[in-house]
Amino acid sequence: MGDDYVKVRVQLEQMRSFGEDEGADAEEQQQLPGSSPPHAPVSPDPSSVTIAGSDASSTSVTCKQRGKSRSRPGRDDKNSCGKHLQDLSLHGSAAHAGKNLNRLGHERTLHIRGTGKILQGKSETNGNYVSIHPSKNIPEVKLANKRRPVTVDTAKAKTSLEALKISIKQLKWKEFPLGRRAACDIYWHGVSFHDNENIVSGQVNKFPGMIEMLRKINMSRAVRTMQELFPEEYDFYPRSWILPEEYQQFSTQIRMVKENDATVNPTFIVKPDGGSQGDGIYLIRDPSDLKLMAGSQAKQGVVQEYIHKPLLIDKLKFDIRLYVLIKSLEPLEIYIAKEGLTRFCTEPYQEPSQKNLSHVFMHLTNYSLNVHSGNFVHSDSQNTGSKRTLSSVLYRLAAKGVDIKKVWSDIIALVIKTVIAVVPELKVYYQAEIPPGKPGPTCFQILGFDILLMKNLKPVLLEVNSNPSMRIEHEQEVAPGVYEYVPSPVDKEVKVGVIRDTLRLMDPAHRKPSVSPDEAALPSLCLKQVYPKYTKQFNYLRLVERIASLFIRFLGVKGNMRLGPTAFRTFIRTCKLSNSNFTMASVDILYIDITRRWSGSTPDSREAGMGLQAFVEAFFHLAARRFKSLPMREQVASLLDLCEAQLEPQSGAEDRRSVSCSRALPRANKTQSLGLTNPQLNSPTPLRRAASQDYRLHQRLKPRSLRANVEN
Ligand code: ADP
Repeated sequence: MGDDYVKVRVQLEQMRSFGEDEGADAEEQQQLPGSSPPHAPVSPDPSSVTIAGSDASSTSVTCKQRGKSRSRPGRDDKNSCGKHLQDLSLHGSAAHAGKNLNRLGHERTLHIRGTGKILQGKSETNGNYVSIHPSKNIPEVKLANKRRPVTVDTAKAKTSLEALKISIKQLKWKEFPLGRRAACDIYWHGVSFHDNENIVSGQVNKFPGMIEMLRKINMSRAVRTMQELFPEEYDFYPRSWILPEEYQQFSTQIRMVKENDATVNPTFIVKPDGGSQGDGIYLIRDPSDLKLMAGSQAKQGVVQEYIHKPLLIDKLKFDIRLYVLIKSLEPLEIYIAKEGLTRFCTEPYQEPSQKNLSHVFMHLTNYSLNVHSGNFVHSDSQNTGSKRTLSSVLYRLAAKGVDIKKVWSDIIALVIKTVIAVVPELKVYYQAEIPPGKPGPTCFQILGFDILLMKNLKPVLLEVNSNPSMRIEHEQEVAPGVYEYVPSPVDKEVKVGVIRDTLRLMDPAHRKPSVSPDEAALPSLCLKQVYPKYTKQFNYLRLVERIASLFIRFLGVKGNMRLGPTAFRTFIRTCKLSNSNFTMASVDILYIDITRRWSGSTPDSREAGMGLQAFVEAFFHLAARRFKSLPMREQVASLLDLCEAQLEPQSGAEDRRSVSCSRALPRANKTQSLGLTNPQLNSPTPLRRAASQDYRLHQRLKPRSLRANVEN
């Protein structure tokens, strides 16, 4: 056995033991549109990295990746090879440190330059390297370039199928249209996380709980919580009241506004919870016009301030559909598609009056409604017709002197803030569905943001769709009474780009999109990273996420989404929040008070215990008691600091890496990770005890029957 072989063996051992650390983010640095392009660091193809160390003349190491990368949080999933490569690169002249190189189950091929020796081995899913054997005279290039294509299960893709097929073809990946007995790398679901049950590995394009989270009531609540803490930052969401519970509040407030100023006559838009495509939506000018009941049942929904001065183009109201990818929850990674769609009304806009309130083609921009108007224009051109690309609209505005850079950066801020508002509860869903330690897939999701530009160019969030339509054809009447699906070039242009580039970003081998050989023919990514890129500007908003981390920690039991009274007491005790002024009896009263108020107000109120939103309310209450003299935001931040400080000594370093909401977590970004903890495994004994006592109160939250198989 030659010296080189021994050297490489040693290096392999080092790779394994260095598995703690890894290179920085492999994705390209992104810029806002209009700003100067970043100086993109030249990165190697991570699937084949050659290192020239101090003895570069004789030895090179090729890390070849293969197979699905289902990494787990913690030590085993880290990039041992990457770390080693970095170490080597310190000494060598031509070394490129690949990022996200070392995934589990990857083959490694070691080339010993000059000797013709090739060592091959494979790392097991637990990160161990099982075999390594020298073989002679195998052509280096052939081995280094060979990799199996990424596999995609498209059996449940539904209406995304067309665009997905085109994307897979462009990437030269392998589609399984009927599913596959063996595991696939990626599962593409048309509706929800649960479209395929029992997926234990790979990646799914839906997060558990996203549909529930983005229903109109839940979404309004999540944004409202943020509005309480950060009123100025969250002024992009119209004032909303939840029905039926806030009907009295709504009518009192409107009456007072009108009494104060008789010339004011605001309009409101009423939206059913879980509705889509404009279904059940209507405008009102007086609270008494609300239709509160459906038969004997109170209608759940929201009533919202109507934005009566939208920006018009060609005298028509329009809204923007923007595609946003949540690539990972922990660490939080958000991408925005540079291209989107704009959907136009088909009747010239007039400010609302009693006469025109029911004119849906004037007030509602939904494609599904306007397509039935005789004025709807199907156009192959991207800048005419009733559906246009976002860029064509922005160019048009720019030509009129609008500062579209400002508009775009306001839109990005709106998107990041909205995601920050919904992430806390998503994390609760995630840990309930895939508790740490349970095998499961990692998740990503494309969301559809509906945004209205006001006349003064301020973007307003209308809603976020968990299941945005990815259809690239539309129904058309080709002869009287005869309808056919015909291709829609505008949809195709935008949606295929979004799906294809989402896949490129989710490539389990983590080849850098811009350097993968198969990608030479592909256009540059249409998805731009905005988070963590803009972490500095927005991280301070993530207070509720820290509250959610506490909540999850004290949930204790796998699959749980609600805190029982014992666990709530344990939280108070562990964080030392009770004293002679706030006895444990008061704690119990607070618990009962808040949970009672919330029961009946949430869609899943059949469940006993305290959900996250109720816990947040309790937390705000505790913060106000404890830090009376401070402004609200500081009260909450101070209480969080206090609780976290109390928990710090108990949790130790282990807590830090216990829960990952994106299990494919090769790079722990400490600056933005909020340190979610594994409630089951790492909780101190009292927590576990409390959790098991409360467990009797709970049933695992099952996904609700999904009305949301409607895409919008
Ligand atoms: P749906 O999920 O049913 O499409 P949306 O919340 O998207 O419900 O509302 C449907 C349409 O109504 C939007 O596309 C937009 O044109 C209009 N709309 C919704 N909310 C407002 C609002 N607050 N102000 C003005 N127009 C609105």
